[in-house]
Amino acid sequence: MVVVMAPDATDEDIAAVVARVQAVGGEAFVSKGLVRTIIGLVGDIDSFHHLNLRTLRGVADVHRISDPYKLVSRQHHRSRSTVWVGATIRVPVGPETFTFMAGPCAVESREQALEAAQMAKGAGAALLRGGAFKPRTSPYAFQGLGAEGLEILADVGAATGLPVVTEVVDARDVPVVVEYADMLQVGTRNMGNVGLLQAVGTCGKPVMLKRGMNATLEEWLMAAEYVAQRGNLDIVLCERGIRTFETAYRNTLDLSAVPAVQAVSHLPVIVDPSHAAGRKDLVVPLARAAIAVGADGVMVDVHPHPESALCDGPSALDGVALRELATAVRHLPGAVGRKDATALVRPS
Ligand code: PEP
Ligand code: MN
Repeated sequence: MVVVMAPDATDEDIAAVVARVQAVGGEAFVSKGLVRTIIGLVGDIDSFHHLNLRTLRGVADVHRISDPYKLVSRQHHRSRSTVWVGATIRVPVGPETFTFMAGPCAVESREQALEAAQMAKGAGAALLRGGAFKPRTSPYAFQGLGAEGLEILADVGAATGLPVVTEVVDARDVPVVVEYADMLQVGTRNMGNVGLLQAVGTCGKPVMLKRGMNATLEEWLMAAEYVAQRGNLDIVLCERGIRTFETAYRNTLDLSAVPAVQAVSHLPVIVDPSHAAGRKDLVVPLARAAIAVGADGVMVDVHPHPESALCDGPSALDGVALRELATAVRHLPGAVGRKDATALVRPS
């Protein structure tokens, strides 16, 4: 931690800061510049926080130089992590591979889910992503099939040999979702839902944590820290676009977040261009860009008949668009030094 003194701070002001720090067992290193003095603090950061140094006379600013998140930070865990998803088939999500996930936004029926899963498998997906509990903006919109949807999803995942990723929207549903899912998704609207984060933190399965649409990178990583703090470090972060002034697409995909988060956190980061764009025509170009920028994976919504989809039809890829994406997914990861995750799938 570094304390920056105001230009008019007196020697007494500086001595008062040093005395406070030493009183809690810390060390203070004073460095006098031409205009300002800065004081470097060494010791227990938490005890320094309690000192309220900012309130002392002559103190202009106090800077943290260590990350506020610990367990998910690269300061404490240099190498980037791989999260393995699935029980009978294990799929990696991490720095060496590229993991493609696809599936229906919402499970609507057994037939539709199976067709969508087959589309995903045919396009080279390693994981099936589908929704049973849907956190819709409108309470009048289709909310998903719930537990029945989970059962269908698990069945079609097994039939196509794809581990399943699905969203949980309520901490009370974690036990039922965990029964069927291989990875639990926490959506953008719930990124800051502490009770849900804590519940998935003890669920025993990997968690995909989407970025809140209004969240900074630090807030997103603090949310991940809640999950990690409960003992679950199998967390995959998912950038899905943030709210900006632009209205031409649903959200603005923040691709800078991928390398920026990878620089400070060891957790894998994937990208969801479907929910970022809300428009089918942008999904393939954004997915290509995500691979190029170093995403550890991409997830997209697919639907056999987008025009009749109960949820997110305008952004769902149909067979034609999916084939276009499959080509990108086949060729681009190798160009950025990654192996296709399906090649590394291993039986447990
Ligand atoms: C979803 O992935 O189904 C979804 C609703 O996405 P988001 O939480 O990013 O809006
Ligand atoms: Mn969707």
